[in-house]
Amino acid sequence: MAKYVFVTGGVTSSLGKGIIAASLAKLLQARGFTATIQKFDPYINVDPGTLNPYEHGECYVTEDGAETDLDLGHYERFLGTPTSQANNVTTGRIYQTVINKERAGEFLGKTVQVVPHITDEIKRRMLLLGQDGKFDIVITEIGGTVGDIESTPFIETVRQIQWELPEEDVMVVHLTLIPYLSAAKELKTKPTQHSVRMLSETGVHPDVIVCRTEHPLNDDIKNKIALFCNVKAGNVIESLDASTIYEVPLLMQKEQLDLIVLKKLNIQNYKEPDLKKWNLFLDKLKHPKSSVNIGLIGKYIELQDAYKSILESFIHAGAMNEVKVNVVNVHSENITEENVNEQFAGLHGLLVAPGFGARGIDGKILAVKYARENNLPFFGICLGMQMAVIEFARNILHLKGAHSVEMDTHTEHPVIDMMEDQKGITMKGGTMRLGSYPCIIAKDTLAYKIYGSININERHRHRYEFNNTFLKSFQENGMVTSGLNPTLGLVEIIELPNHPFFIGVQYHPELKSTVEHPAPLFVHFIAAAKLQAAKKA
Ligand code: GLN
Repeated sequence: MAKYVFVTGGVTSSLGKGIIAASLAKLLQARGFTATIQKFDPYINVDPGTLNPYEHGECYVTEDGAETDLDLGHYERFLGTPTSQANNVTTGRIYQTVINKERAGEFLGKTVQVVPHITDEIKRRMLLLGQDGKFDIVITEIGGTVGDIESTPFIETVRQIQWELPEEDVMVVHLTLIPYLSAAKELKTKPTQHSVRMLSETGVHPDVIVCRTEHPLNDDIKNKIALFCNVKAGNVIESLDASTIYEVPLLMQKEQLDLIVLKKLNIQNYKEPDLKKWNLFLDKLKHPKSSVNIGLIGKYIELQDAYKSILESFIHAGAMNEVKVNVVNVHSENITEENVNEQFAGLHGLLVAPGFGARGIDGKILAVKYARENNLPFFGICLGMQMAVIEFARNILHLKGAHSVEMDTHTEHPVIDMMEDQKGITMKGGTMRLGSYPCIIAKDTLAYKIYGSININERHRHRYEFNNTFLKSFQENGMVTSGLNPTLGLVEIIELPNHPFFIGVQYHPELKSTVEHPAPLFVHFIAAAKLQAAKKA
């Protein structure tokens, strides 16, 4: 059976528990262990698929089609191994399972209660990934902040697991904030003391305290925290603000977080960490030779988390090309015929982002038109690809009012239509075309040059598709449909050959980009932007 590390958070949210969990997993992986990370979220939604990006940032889709928290994206980008539905559990999912069992009569005669029935279901899921011998270590991130009403059952379950399993099989890492008061020129430990006290009141005691801080912690402060919070002096470590999240594994290595964990879990046979590829990536990331400006056209741009995986994919692809990618956020609602030239003048590439609903659609179509007519590298993802299809229909095929039925149910030219198997669906949660599907790529296309293979698999999240009744007229007028789903014939990739780089994909390549294996589409898009920048210089 695996060993279990729980990561809790105190003082405030957004301290980066996901990055600390991913960094620890990376270090353990680099020392030869198999590790996975799961996230337990306290909200009642069964999954984040129905949440607005403004509420919860991007919805990350796994290979098996689960709509999950964006932290799973970090886990995959750091570890390079896929996660699944089992890696993200919400309170909603726990209750749904228990209530379904109650309706089926499985608790017949019993009062169903938070303890033990809800906590038993939480426990079953917390231990699940560690039971088939696939992983040496399972790291569980508990969403929210200690003291929140809604995460209490999760913390209670951690207490039960700490109590039930041998001491050397379970540990708790608590992440807190050490604020700096500039007027007093002092780092303050009191919030940390309070949060550990609150955690201890629930019966859970942390083995390690990781302190997020803007200034280094000296030994006096570390010893003070250790004394007041009742942890070993060496087990209080600092997590200094880093210039990039990809630096955090190295910062944690310097603080010996991995060694502290291995010691507590009584794991003796470990090798020196092999972080060669990681360091190579970091080195390239930190020393770019030039830069490119990429316009990110979307409607959620006020919130960076809404496009998390796309932004991280730019970082991976930029390092690969040894360029710094400056992402210029362009709100699709602010693009007009009058200002489009001015808005895009300094850009070397345009990415039209995924999305839902009608808001900002006209700006996206204008952006595609600009890229097509001005030979600017263009990359459309999901809704972005659909916009490229609509733009082509309206301006090249002269199909006036051509649209997606998502935005205009009665359009005369529904070039983007609802997928056949979506038509009878009324339930919203988990019902899109989700997860990994195969795609066959035609030879002698840009897509083939990019992937170097005929068979690829990419992840999807959509209800609408290219309408194949228009296929012939698109093809006859110069649009290449270079990727198709082998069984359904759905168009997955479109491109324009008489253009330096113009490609749209119905799937989400950003979900599979990792530090060690950047998504090929992003790598080639940035390479095209780099050429564009050199031309303009
Ligand atoms: N709204 C579009 C659809 O459902 C695109 C979805 C997306 O961009 N993820 O097909």
